[in-house]
Amino acid sequence: MHINELSLKNYRNYESLDLTFDHKVNVIIGENAQGKTNIMESIYVLALTKSHRTSKDKELIKWDESYAKIKGSVVKRNRQFPLELIFSNKGKKAKLNHIEQQRLSDYIGALNVVMFAPEDLNLVKGSPQERRRFIDMEIGQIQPIYVYHLGQFQKILKQRNALLKDYQRKQQMDRTMLRVMTEQIIEHAATIIHRRFKFLQLLRKWAQPIHLGISRHLEKLEITYDASIEVSENMELSKIVEVYQKQFEDMETKEIERGTSLIGPHRDDLVFHLNGKEVQTYGSQGQQRTTALSLKLAEIELIYSEVGEYPILLLDDVLSELDDHRQSHLLNTIQGKVQTFVSTTSVDGIEHDTLKKAEIFHVHQGAVSKEG
Ligand code: ATP
Ligand code: MG
Repeated sequence: MHINELSLKNYRNYESLDLTFDHKVNVIIGENAQGKTNIMESIYVLALTKSHRTSKDKELIKWDESYAKIKGSVVKRNRQFPLELIFSNKGKKAKLNHIEQQRLSDYIGALNVVMFAPEDLNLVKGSPQERRRFIDMEIGQIQPIYVYHLGQFQKILKQRNALLKDYQRKQQMDRTMLRVMTEQIIEHAATIIHRRFKFLQLLRKWAQPIHLGISRHLEKLEITYDASIEVSENMELSKIVEVYQKQFEDMETKEIERGTSLIGPHRDDLVFHLNGKEVQTYGSQGQQRTTALSLKLAEIELIYSEVGEYPILLLDDVLSELDDHRQSHLLNTIQGKVQTFVSTTSVDGIEHDTLKKAEIFHVHQGAVSKEG
């Protein structure tokens, strides 16, 4: 799939911008703080309705403006269709084929993207929250119903936590109410974790050989799921429900004492190992970067295998961070099959045929000009 038109209105530092893109590689060049990442981000947001940099949609609106709009024209399975997102103080509106979608899960998935940005180093070294965010975003775009379960889970979690916290003040607990909420939360928690397991199996299948390739057959990458309950990956959904029921029962008194929900997918984590050693703890900078790169490349293949078309790849300021071997590995992988956006302050030092055939855009203070 690819995007052939993008138009921004009041998006970050762009008052108004209209661009048409090459089907293959587009390079965005500009000095620091000119608006390179903002373009990349807008494509990511158009696909997933959320930024990779912030959870506050308000930040996407140009300062002193009341709304922001992103429009794109996407080609997928040889059909072209428009996508449109509008952010304002009333929230966000998502339109697919000019029709407003009541649920974001009916919108997400129309366009698939994979972003590789400097922040992705945090994927390995950062907090568990970042790894959960990664896995949630990725599952969401190939199985939009996951977004629904996640949203429901978060809503009930908030209510349940408020109830638990209230105990500290009132010193009494409406246990019937708590159990109703527990039942509700389990339904979504179990589905989430079950889908995460399935996704991980796929991710591993692609990431392992890719990582072996990038590391010149020196490193075996393993990805494990660190759950807050005692479950195993091959469990059926009904079995996971049972485990949650049992463990929530066992935890009830402790949760009331502590005033918060102590188990659930919001407490889980991913762990990466290279040749048996935990990357989070022992990995060098380069190993962390390579692990993140392997995961991103794996996502590209995973989306292809699930959706039947390659996603759009957004490489924000990362090419110059990779050594020659990793750079060529990356560019060889995408060559000719993945529409790619590369942002960089300079193309010096990036010698690759893929970039020679690219469409070049120059960005200066929120204005973009196409080369040639
Ligand atoms: P770098 O090379 O440093 O990564 P960049 O070209 O990627 O730079 P961007 O992150 O795209 O830079 O940001 C460009 C400018 O947009 C920055 O000066 C930033 O302060 C500005 N900016 C960010 N958010 C908004 C906003 N909501 N309204 C107006 N300007 C904004
Ligand atoms: Mg940037």
